[in-house]
Amino acid sequence: MARDLTCIICPRGCALHIDGELNVTGNACPRGAAYAKQEVTDPRRTLTSTVKCRGKLFRVCPVKTALPIPKDKVSPAMDEVNAVEILPPVHIGDVVIKNIAGTGIDLVATRDIEE
Ligand code: SF4
Repeated sequence: MARDLTCIICPRGCALHIDGELNVTGNACPRGAAYAKQEVTDPRRTLTSTVKCRGKLFRVCPVKTALPIPKDKVSPAMDEVNAVEILPPVHIGDVVIKNIAGTGIDLVATRDIEE
């Protein structure tokens, strides 16, 4: 099925068109074609959020998925994010939830919290 999309890879925001055979037009560079094909065949999003933290100064810790996860896994992933609570110390890149929502991708901390 043909679709019109706006490329979100860079600020230029090219207006893309992809047909049912995955031919892409409107892209000013190859990254736009790759984005359109990915968006039509396997849409993914990087999940960014916060988890509860039992720190002295910080009650939440920012987190993100190490890679984009399938769009239909964002909601179950958020259920896991909302259910978890961590204890400091935590460091940038520490795995907070392994294999979130069965995606094979980890949720990692994006801030250092020492105590
Ligand atoms: S197609 Fe290329 S130039 Fe156009 S918005 Fe996407 S990344 Fe930027």
